[in-house]
Amino acid sequence: MMGNTARAWIELDMNNLRHNINIMRSLLPDGCQLMAVLKANAYGHGAVEIARELNSNGIRAFCVASVLEGVELREHGIEGEILILGYTHPTQFYLLRKYSLMQTVIDYEYAKALDDYGEELIVHVKIDTGMHRLGERSDNVDQILQIFKYKNLVIDGIYTHLCVVDSDRQVDRNFTQKQIDNFNWVLSRIQKQGFSLPKVHIQSSYGIFNRSDLSFDYARVGIALYGMLYTLDDTEKYNIGLRPVLSVKARVSTVKTLFAGEAVGYGLAFKALHNMRIAAITFGYADGIPRCLSCGIGHVLINGQKAPIVGRICMDQMMVDVSGIEDVKQGDIAVIIGKSDKDEITACEIAEQAGTVSTEILSRLGRRLERVVLI
Ligand SMILES: *Cc1c(COP(=O)(O)O)cnc(C)c1O
Repeated sequence: MMGNTARAWIELDMNNLRHNINIMRSLLPDGCQLMAVLKANAYGHGAVEIARELNSNGIRAFCVASVLEGVELREHGIEGEILILGYTHPTQFYLLRKYSLMQTVIDYEYAKALDDYGEELIVHVKIDTGMHRLGERSDNVDQILQIFKYKNLVIDGIYTHLCVVDSDRQVDRNFTQKQIDNFNWVLSRIQKQGFSLPKVHIQSSYGIFNRSDLSFDYARVGIALYGMLYTLDDTEKYNIGLRPVLSVKARVSTVKTLFAGEAVGYGLAFKALHNMRIAAITFGYADGIPRCLSCGIGHVLINGQKAPIVGRICMDQMMVDVSGIEDVKQGDIAVIIGKSDKDEITACEIAEQAGTVSTEILSRLGRRLERVVLI
């Protein structure tokens, strides 16, 4: 296994991915297909590796953020529909046709730019129902109807995005309902004008849990497929047995004694009060561990035991306290995210320590990490 020689690597447990696919499919109403969200290199996991596994499990609809993310998937033989969720510069429209990618119409003005390309482009129209990021405003129905009249736009889908569907608060629930009402109103106006509805989608992971009553053609699922939710609390609250797909591991490079009174690392930010054993780990903030986990905020697992981070995390390395762990030696494996014997560190835990969400931790994993696919 390649993992035996790498400096630092990601392990992808495809068994767990298949398990998550099954769970998410079981939650979707009949006729609603999973549209897997693969943006940002599949939330750091590796878009090609993940897409291949999804393809072989019958998933044939994907979303990415950028046109080049779509091109990468096609160049690696990924089949099915690929929808670009974000902005594509007009000089790159030729890539949409060359690689059979579907572009989001991000507003009325952009629809004209797409039409001006002069050849047919397959698109999904985005409606802004309250998030105010992308999409034509749901109250601008005349503009939305005009988008349906452009002759070079082949409209395959229409969608919106819910921005507080993760929340239980009544005000947020009301807001979500308002977004859904705005969207349905647009849909009804489109039909009244005699256009047949293209494929419709609205939910992402949280929408499936919190608005399971909704039934559309696709659900755009990201984080749940990867085996968690945005926070530790949510992952525990929804407790539907998702299993993390990704683990991150690195090596012990040196083990040495730090004598009482000595300090370690840049800024000499941690000083030993008594003699201790410390290990350097081949993993730094360039690999994706947030630097704010320095000086004891974060830890790694070695031989199933916690080794707290001591001193400041460096770009390529960090030092950990292994005083309490027996027989740690050069070349040993340190778990940054994942299981080590009976203990585990999750991306949600690291996110909590860093004051962010799991998706930020995952999507920022470093480019130089190798990947090991566990079939
Ligand atoms: C990222 C994204 C998703 C997926 O969201 P998850 O919460 O990860 O399931 C769905 N739709 C859009 C428009 C997105 O940007």
